[in-house]
Amino acid sequence: MTSRPIATPRPIALVGIGKIARDQHVPAIAASSDWSLAATVSRSGAVEGVEAFDDFDAFLAARPEIDTVSLCLPPQPRFDYAKKALLARRHVMLEKPPGQTLSEVHELIDLAARMGVTLYATWHSRMAAGVAAAKAHLAERAVRSARIDWKEDVRRWHPGQEWIFEAGGMGVFDPGINALSILTEILPSPVHLTGAVLEFPENRQTPIAATLDFTGGVRAAFDWRQEGPQTWEIAVETDRGPVTLRDGGARLEVDGTEETLPDHPGEYPALYARMAELVAKGESETDLAPMRHVADAMTLGRRETVAAFEF
Ligand code: NAP
Repeated sequence: MTSRPIATPRPIALVGIGKIARDQHVPAIAASSDWSLAATVSRSGAVEGVEAFDDFDAFLAARPEIDTVSLCLPPQPRFDYAKKALLARRHVMLEKPPGQTLSEVHELIDLAARMGVTLYATWHSRMAAGVAAAKAHLAERAVRSARIDWKEDVRRWHPGQEWIFEAGGMGVFDPGINALSILTEILPSPVHLTGAVLEFPENRQTPIAATLDFTGGVRAAFDWRQEGPQTWEIAVETDRGPVTLRDGGARLEVDGTEETLPDHPGEYPALYARMAELVAKGESETDLAPMRHVADAMTLGRRETVAAFEF
């Protein structure tokens, strides 16, 4: 793979100016010394002071010097954008989940390698403050079992986002895959799914809740109907006591005592720093383990129909 010499901060384009682009990507790039937001591509959104395109082909043709794009679209349209970008020899950063299907992403991995550019399938929750420390603790212990509770209010976090309930939108696995991205990062040995129950609202194409069983005594409960306090917790029982990540990995408790974690740049700044490293080294990073578990759950899961859901 070759990486072309280019100015620092490197120009980058954001594609799909929606909720996560505004909440996280724009501020993370603004605070980065590696990147400069040089263009946006969005059918309706824009960022003040930044050149805006409403058509991706027009952007690719007009701005060949912007050699990196970050795709913040929902998973359904993402493959077509990623393929065009790679064919145009752009480095590509993918929001999670990296695609609608595993096959799509395998095709992108092969294409990035052929084109000699970087492909980074990001998992923002792996960058949460407590994850690296949890992984280090677990490397020195024998894991007995683990329990994931990932329960949030879909109306609060995804207001009106119909795509998450459409085929390819993953439903409750959209947040649940964040838990699986942490699990697959911190466990010393891999596990695989042995069974699942998926609860589909009678008027929707994707599940609103799921329970998953894995080898190694790992169980997970995902639920999008939780009002009040929100729960994003992974509790691992070990031979020497519990290792528990709370608040989506931002807090870590070991043997019942909360650890003081080192200063942390934040999940999205850490992703952009990693992308800069990958581009500089001419490497790609595309771990599909979290998505494999979701695909397995969709394959093995028993379907139950529950009450209709409206935002
Ligand atoms: P969103 O706001 O609903 O959509 C993002 C943008 O994608 C939209 O503003 C839209 O931009 C574009 N878009 C939507 N459908 C499209 C289509 N069919 N074709 C082309 N463009 C389309 O979604 P989001 O919440 O930002 O989520 C995007 C991705 O980020 C998802 O994969 C999600 O899992 C991930 N993510 C979201 C969150 C969160 O809290 N929301 C957190 C972490 C990660 P234009 O209409 O302007 O083109």
